[in-house]
Parts: sequence; structure tokens; C-alpha cells
Amino acid sequence: MDLQFTSEELAFRDQVRTWVGSHLPSHIAEKVKQGLQLSRQDQQDWAKILGKKGWLAFNWPTQFGGPGWSAIQKHLFEEECALAGAPRIVPFGPVMVAPVIMAFGTPAQQERFLPGIRSGEVWWSQGYSEPGAGSDLASLQCKAELKGDRYIVNGQKTWTTLGQYGDWIFCLVRTSSEGKPQSGISFLLIDMKSPGITVRPIITMDGAHEVNEVWFDNVEVPVDQRIGEENKGWNYAKFLLAHERTNIADVNRSKRELERLKRIVKATLSGGLPCITTCVFAIRSLCWK
Ligand SMILES: Cc1cc2nc3c(=O)[nH]c(=O)nc-3n(C[C@H](O)[C@H](O)[C@H](O)COP(=O)(O)OP(=O)(O)OC[C@H]3O[C@@H](n4cnc5c(N)ncnc54)[C@H](O)[C@@H]3O)c2cc1C
Repeated sequence: MDLQFTSEELAFRDQVRTWVGSHLPSHIAEKVKQGLQLSRQDQQDWAKILGKKGWLAFNWPTQFGGPGWSAIQKHLFEEECALAGAPRIVPFGPVMVAPVIMAFGTPAQQERFLPGIRSGEVWWSQGYSEPGAGSDLASLQCKAELKGDRYIVNGQKTWTTLGQYGDWIFCLVRTSSEGKPQSGISFLLIDMKSPGITVRPIITMDGAHEVNEVWFDNVEVPVDQRIGEENKGWNYAKFLLAHERTNIADVNRSKRELERLKRIVKATLSGGLPCITTCVFAIRSLCWK
């Protein structure tokens, strides 16, 4: 196997490097390089810059407005972004729910939801886990009852990453208790401004506010915000998880953070002041979901 990049790939890498170098705001890159917490504004500013260029949807096919890059081009893009100190692309919209909408959404849903994801205007969250449904996700209990042309949703989601910023949330809900637990789940797209939704922070032991509880109290969700068929949500959920898990590997950013850890350790061993906080931030940013 030839692991060398071709001259076209190297030219592509240079083009990405130049563009990222001239468009990534330095105050954001500085925060990333120092492992400081990014604000919603920081993350969304970068998402919109990428969106304007058409690169927030870097892994989308051209049919839906993506660049249609090869696997190597996607890798080079992610590597250059990581090296430059770009924030991680918040994956819930462009990486996770978008492929589900492309594969299983109706043309009307694709037209309605994909542009806001592609441009970085709309922030999505993930509503899978519940207090009693983590590894055993199929045991989820958040319930949606169909009444006329809308579902009434009641229940709770948890560990919702950056849910405090969410405009929309994709949720797995229980629409039937018949048969296997997996066969009674549906996949809904829910506007987080809907009456009856409450987001409560979970403060983790490092003092950070990254994850949340999301509560649903008689939340009305129009039936045209269901993806695919009722009770077939488990299939769409598994399709989404394939995109989530490969994204979470986050190889390029992890390489950058490992380099940073090595620099800190070297500085410490060579007599520089040990900076525990910096080490903790470096390790923490490696662990971000
Ligand atoms: C930082 C962070 C962010 C997250 N963000 C989101 C989010 O945005 N949206 C979302 O929906 N979810 C999110 N999650 C939830 C995450 O996907 C769940 O934590 C995960 O599904 C595991 O569920 P749990 O935490 O309830 O652990 P549990 O299911 O309680 O498992 C605890 C431990 O027990 C083990 N275990 C469980 N069952 C068995 C068994 N039968 N046999 C042997 N061992 C077992 C597990 O491997 C694990 O080690 C987030 C989690 C974290 C930590």
C-alpha cells in the first residue's frame, strides 16, 4: 500500500492550510491551543466561517451541497484544521443528524433542515441517553403519543452535550411498548424552543458546564418532524451511531493534543515550572465527547 500523498493531494493540503490560516480568528485559535473553554460564540463563529466556504459540510456529497471530497481530502482537511488550532466542528448537526436526514428524510425535510446545518446557523443536540438508558439504549422511556397530526412528548434525556446552546434536538422516543424494545422507538426532530422543554445543567467535577438534562413536558411535535417510519427509529439511530463513533475517534485533534502534552512534560522535566492546570486542560480536551 502506498501511504504517500499524491501531488494533487499535497496541493489540496496547501490550499486548505492557506485558507484556514487566513480565516481562523487568532483569538479562537489561541484559546484552543491553550485548552481554554470556548464560548458558543467562538464555536458558532468558526462554524459559520466554514459554512460560508461550504466546508462545514466537509463530509457531505455534492448532491446535498457538500464538496464531495475523497476520504484522503477529508482527512487532510481535519488535520489542517487541528494543526491550526481550529475548534472541533460540533458534530451533532453536520456529522450526525445530517446523514440521517439525507438517507431517510423526505425531500421536504431535506430542504427544511439541511441548509441551516450546512451554514452553521442552527445548533443541534443529541437526545439519545436517559437516566436508565445508556449502554442499554433500547430501554429508553421518553414517550411520544400521536394525537392527530402531532406527537405529545413526555420524559427526560440526559448527558446532552452543549444542549444549553441547542436550537434543535434529534430524539429517540418510545412510540410503542409492544414486542421487542427496539421495535417501539421513533426518531423525532424537535425545536428546542417548543413550550414544555426545560434544559438543566449538569456541572461535572471539573466545574465545567458541558452536559445537561433535557426535560419534556407535553411537548408538541408535528408529525412531519418524524424521520422515516414510526417505530423504525432504532434503524436510523444505529445508522447515526456509525457516523458518531468514527467522528469521536477524532484522530487529528488527539494528535495535536498529544503533542501539547509532550511539550508540557518536556518543559517540566527540563526544569520549567510544572503547570498542573495546563496538563489537566490538555487531558480534558482529549476526553471531550
Ligand atoms: C461527556 C459525555 C457526553 C455525552 N453526551 C451525550 C449526548 O450529547 N447525547 C446523548 O444522548 N448521550 C450522551 N452521552 C451519553 C453516553 O452516550 C452514555 O454515557 C453511554 O451511552 C453510556 O451510558 P451510561 O453513562 O448510562 O452508562 P451505563 O450504561 O450505566 O454503563 C456504565 C458502565 O457499565 C458497563 N455496562 C453496562 N451494561 C453492562 C452489561 N450488561 N454488562 C457489562 N457491563 C455493562 C458499561 O460498559 C460502563 O462501563 C454522553 C456521555 C458523556 C460521558
